[in-house]
Amino acid sequence: MANSTNFTRKLTTGYRTQVLIVGGGTAGIGAALGAARNGAEALIVERHGFFGGIASFGVGMRMNQMRPFDAPRSAVHESVIENLLAYGDRAALIRHHSVMPNVEYLKASLFDTLEKAGCRYLVHAAVVDAITENDRVTGVVLSTKHGLIHVSADVVVDCTGDADVACFAGAETMNAAAEGESFAPMTLNFDVTSHRTAEAERFARSSSLSTAVESSRGAYPAVPQSFSLNRFSSATALNVNHGGTRTLGSLDGSDLDDITRAEAFSRRQVIEMVRAMNESGVEELSDLDIITTGAQIGVRETRRVKGAYVLTEHDAMTGARFDDAIAWRSGFLDIGFVRYERMRVHEVPYRALLPETVDGLLTAGRCISASHVAAAAGKSMGNCIATGHAAGTAAAIATRLGKSPRDIRVTELQDALRADGVDIPFSRADQTDDDMDPDELRGVRTSG
Ligand SMILES: Cc1cc2nc3c(=O)[nH]c(=O)nc-3n(C[C@H](O)[C@H](O)[C@H](O)COP(=O)(O)OP(=O)(O)OC[C@H]3O[C@@H](n4cnc5c(N)ncnc54)[C@H](O)[C@@H]3O)c2cc1C
Repeated sequence: MANSTNFTRKLTTGYRTQVLIVGGGTAGIGAALGAARNGAEALIVERHGFFGGIASFGVGMRMNQMRPFDAPRSAVHESVIENLLAYGDRAALIRHHSVMPNVEYLKASLFDTLEKAGCRYLVHAAVVDAITENDRVTGVVLSTKHGLIHVSADVVVDCTGDADVACFAGAETMNAAAEGESFAPMTLNFDVTSHRTAEAERFARSSSLSTAVESSRGAYPAVPQSFSLNRFSSATALNVNHGGTRTLGSLDGSDLDDITRAEAFSRRQVIEMVRAMNESGVEELSDLDIITTGAQIGVRETRRVKGAYVLTEHDAMTGARFDDAIAWRSGFLDIGFVRYERMRVHEVPYRALLPETVDGLLTAGRCISASHVAAAAGKSMGNCIATGHAAGTAAAIATRLGKSPRDIRVTELQDALRADGVDIPFSRADQTDDDMDPDELRGVRTSG
């Protein structure tokens, strides 16, 4: 029989919207709310069956910098918090700047948040290509159970974390490898429980878990050097954040082989970590067991869009200010269990959301235009919502004026953001120890 390969690819017309947000993590939620609050018809598409991105895959990580200075950060941040707290005390704890959610309530409340804002949404819908006309993005190709569907939009906001749309559209992207750096490790977060959860937490806060499991390292070589047990709104479970794939070297979460290797390693690593704690001889850790892991591994860093401005480590450390500021980023510079230090509150220029070469496209969240280190300086979830809010608002203004996002007046965007409660130009003094969580200051790892 003769060899033959057949492939039939049909693209059917599916949806049309003014602003299309691709990726429903914290940045995507910020962008969808920003667009809808500014009068645009907004559609958000997400490849998983729920929203939240890493906030949800993290199964109970703290959403940091949601209320820096113990004060509301914007109407968009508050909408996310209010809809979560509408489910009651079990849904989330608020402590200092962070929101500590039970992710099952977070997932439900994000649907509420989108619906109340009037955003349309689709889940189980992965973008696999971009449609461009003369270097302008005019839509995307969605992979669904109906096959490939064309979604057209006036403006697309890339909130995939991996700059997928920008990459598919031929925009220039950057990554750690090209800078001669290692990618931040990937981590599969998980939750544990026992009948002594509170004692286990107390032990983890006062002693080094790494030292406690030292004698088990020979039997369990995948156990990472650093890990932490963290409280969230559940009284009976603790969230484990850790150094993940760091020992495997530099892995790129947007590379199919690398992420496959990372997932396979991490599923076994979780079990090794729990066994190492159980067999450590520490009474408080002896009967901890796994109750859940993330739906996928948490990816800290992959491709980033190359914008007209690239944020730098210097910007983060010196508290840079920009005439075209559309957001600010606070908290720690945090390369997931590799480097962790205080930075200064610094502004984000609109130019860091605009791909240099492609029109009709904005970006937000972890794939904005920033160096490897500067990306780690803005990765707290509250900061990602802030750039999303700005990008969605800019997209709505561009749609209303029939302009490309590049051509809108930044002052109009800044006015719209101020009307939503965003403090730009950033008017406060920098964060002090009083603005931080005491755990962070004591060196207890609450993020990563
Ligand atoms: C392990 C780990 C621990 C962290 N710890 C903390 C912490 O404790 N506190 C904190 O504040 N921050 C923490 N961070 C950082 C923070 O979680 C992220 O920087 C932030 O959530 C990124 O938000 P995002 O929306 O840009 O990206 P993501 O959360 O990655 O969201 C991207 C979304 O896009 C979807 N998507 C991707 N590609 C496509 C596509 N082609 N089509 C459709 N959908 C797509 C994804 O499924 C996902 O939902 C951590 C990150 C990691 C990985």
